[in-house]
Amino acid sequence: MIIVHAGPEVVPFSKTGGLADVLGSLPLSLADRGNEVIIVSPLYRSVMARKPLKLDTSLSVPLGDRTLPGDVYWIKINEHTKAYFIANDALFLRDGLYVDPGGVDYKDNAARFIFFSRAVPELLGKLGIVPDVVHSHDWQSGLVPVYLKTLYRDRFRGVACVFTIHNIGYQGTFWHLDMPLTGLGWEYFTKEYLEFYGKISLLKAGIVFADAVTTVSPTYSREILTPEFGYGMEGVLRSREPDLYGILNGVDYDQWAPEHDRFIPHPYGADEIDLKHDNKITLNRMFGLDNSSTPIIGMITRLTQQKGIDLVEGAIGRMVAMGLKLVLLGSGDRAYEDRIRNIAARYKGRVGAKIGFDNSLAHLIEAGADMFLMPSLYEPCGLNQMYSLRYGTVPVVRATGGLNDTITEYDPSHETGNGFKFSDQSADSMLLALKRAVDTYTDRQRWQRLSRACMSYDFSWHRSSQDYELLYRAYGTRSYLHGDRGKPA
Ligand code: ADP
Repeated sequence: MIIVHAGPEVVPFSKTGGLADVLGSLPLSLADRGNEVIIVSPLYRSVMARKPLKLDTSLSVPLGDRTLPGDVYWIKINEHTKAYFIANDALFLRDGLYVDPGGVDYKDNAARFIFFSRAVPELLGKLGIVPDVVHSHDWQSGLVPVYLKTLYRDRFRGVACVFTIHNIGYQGTFWHLDMPLTGLGWEYFTKEYLEFYGKISLLKAGIVFADAVTTVSPTYSREILTPEFGYGMEGVLRSREPDLYGILNGVDYDQWAPEHDRFIPHPYGADEIDLKHDNKITLNRMFGLDNSSTPIIGMITRLTQQKGIDLVEGAIGRMVAMGLKLVLLGSGDRAYEDRIRNIAARYKGRVGAKIGFDNSLAHLIEAGADMFLMPSLYEPCGLNQMYSLRYGTVPVVRATGGLNDTITEYDPSHETGNGFKFSDQSADSMLLALKRAVDTYTDRQRWQRLSRACMSYDFSWHRSSQDYELLYRAYGTRSYLHGDRGKPA
């Protein structure tokens, strides 16, 4: 098949979160399975560092009553995978992807990503490609299925559109006066289509127009149908329930495996797990932590309410009293950043924090920590718990979304399971799980067996990309047989 992936961030060119990891690795896994894969993403400043080549032709992309130019850059990733980058300096050549250095959303985000979404069919037209599948991701590419099913319908008839929700908390909601930018008539500004409580939602657009909608874990695919997790989108999703699937993200073990990790001082495999301790010493030193033999628990996270930072703040005194040391790497909301700095200052020698985005430190934390904490209020899939398993760093997680699907509670009597879980959104409940982890840690032999068992889990893309391929085939056929969704009333 010819498969196009359109999305707003892709490793190693741009990244703010897990979506970038997915777009950096799922296409490669699909290519390994014999498909031709094209990735389309915006050209931010960070992409230029990778020296993409410029195509001779450029695009003319309608945006409202204007037509904007779009240069196209590209990089051949491997024999069967190419990445194309849509360039418009005024819109994308910025340091941030979605927010300015002060953490405030760019005011023209609607225009930026409407332009990007419309550039996707324009680019395919220019390249003369009619793919089997166009798979787009999150609100930033929510209009891709809309365009393929409406303005570009004739050209892309029968092409299966798959849309993946990586986080329902981000809905690309803009005021209704941005509607003309889309080039779609007002007949699409209705409850059935793009309108969402008087505004436009680009996420809703993707959900409504795609042939199939997926999200990134089975548990999350059920959770988002409820008011607690649906962020108001649960009704829209329920109307698409027969076409809604949960497919777990995979891990790119070329990037995340302790035996060949170039970011850690002491690479190690499962049979040389003692070396993990040398990474712990490096991590201890880096953050000036007590040199004692007590466990380090790591966190690497966007600092937003979603990630359960409040639970950690409420429990940190008791965590330290329990003998835990915490190393946290994160960036995001300014208020959380300040609160984390305060905690680190208050518990010097016990809590180490770095505010910022630092990939190499993320690898060292995975290698050097004994445990990894993810107390998320919700977590569509979560990648760090799967990375942690591979590094023998035992996850302590809240039982939600993909965390629930990948982590099973450790059972001391049978020595089964791969981590520690809690359900209530409370510091007390988290502390009980942490206590079970710390108690288990005191038996060093037992802990090493658990740590080694964690390393043996396989969450590679292999199975997930097979699931996507099956979905593409099923919906490709359906698209041919039943025609297209999304004809206006
Ligand atoms: P989300 O997409 O909600 O941020 P995921 O767990 O799915 O959460 O993915 C987060 C990804 O971003 C992981 O690869 C993680 O290592 C990385 N990450 C998050 N914050 C940072 C940071 N401050 N520095 C380096 N990497 C980070």
